[in-house]
Amino acid sequence: MIDRYHLTSIATRPEKTVIRVGGIEIGAERVILMAGPCAIESAEQLSRIAKELSRGGVSILRGSAYKPRTSPYSFQGLGAEGLKLHREGQKEHKMLIETEVLDVRDVSLVAEHVDILRIGARNMQNFSLLKEVGKCGKPVILKRGICATIEEWLMSAEYIMAHGNHEVILCERGIRTFENATRCTLDLSSIPVLKQLTHLPVIVDPSHAAGRKDIIPSLAKAAIAVGADGLLIEVHDEPANAKCDGKQALLPKDLVALIPDLRKVAVAIGRSL
Ligand code: PEP
Ligand code: MN
Repeated sequence: MIDRYHLTSIATRPEKTVIRVGGIEIGAERVILMAGPCAIESAEQLSRIAKELSRGGVSILRGSAYKPRTSPYSFQGLGAEGLKLHREGQKEHKMLIETEVLDVRDVSLVAEHVDILRIGARNMQNFSLLKEVGKCGKPVILKRGICATIEEWLMSAEYIMAHGNHEVILCERGIRTFENATRCTLDLSSIPVLKQLTHLPVIVDPSHAAGRKDIIPSLAKAAIAVGADGLLIEVHDEPANAKCDGKQALLPKDLVALIPDLRKVAVAIGRSL
């Protein structure tokens, strides 16, 4: 069915897509950990967090320079200066780096600075942006829209692939439901459902789904158990002073302490971490 998802479909490509970036394989047997602050706040903040995470075994450092905020008065990110800090920090800590691109006008600048681009939930159906990252030549994490069905999400991945970029990583980050104990409801069903439909790697962001840090270890373990190829987790070394999303940030040391448990789950389902 060429008018529905085609390039993303497992029918078109039965073998799993493995994305190779800087010596790391996303979508292979090993479950990949990506973690870092919600927003890049300063060189020192990034450096402190990256040091702890890289020593602990996290391979990819997240951090946003452009922040999509509900209020125009909230911190909007450091912009191009934040990208520079991310890139400079990379030399020191030898981690791969990822960041969100919010605007079609920033795609080439962002692609010059980071290893992996991220399209956030709010932009999952920003078709101009999807087309542009389709031409950027770097892997793209495509987050699920807050109210998007799995089919709509795959169609958005199809946009990126149809414009030339086959390195798409789907990221489940929770959907909006009537439940208000958590910020969003993490749709763990989407992972095994996607595994039946697509060859693309699927990762899980428990942080933006939960909106609170206490249940993140449970959600992270569950995500691996249902087949996630990786996790994207927010950490901050001073959550009380974080410029955004402090309530859902784990301390770097708490994430590192969680890794042995995550590994046990991965090994139980025949994978590694
Ligand atoms: C983020 O990961 O920084 C983010 C804003 O998440 P989401 O797009 O899933 O809301
Ligand atoms: Mn955040």
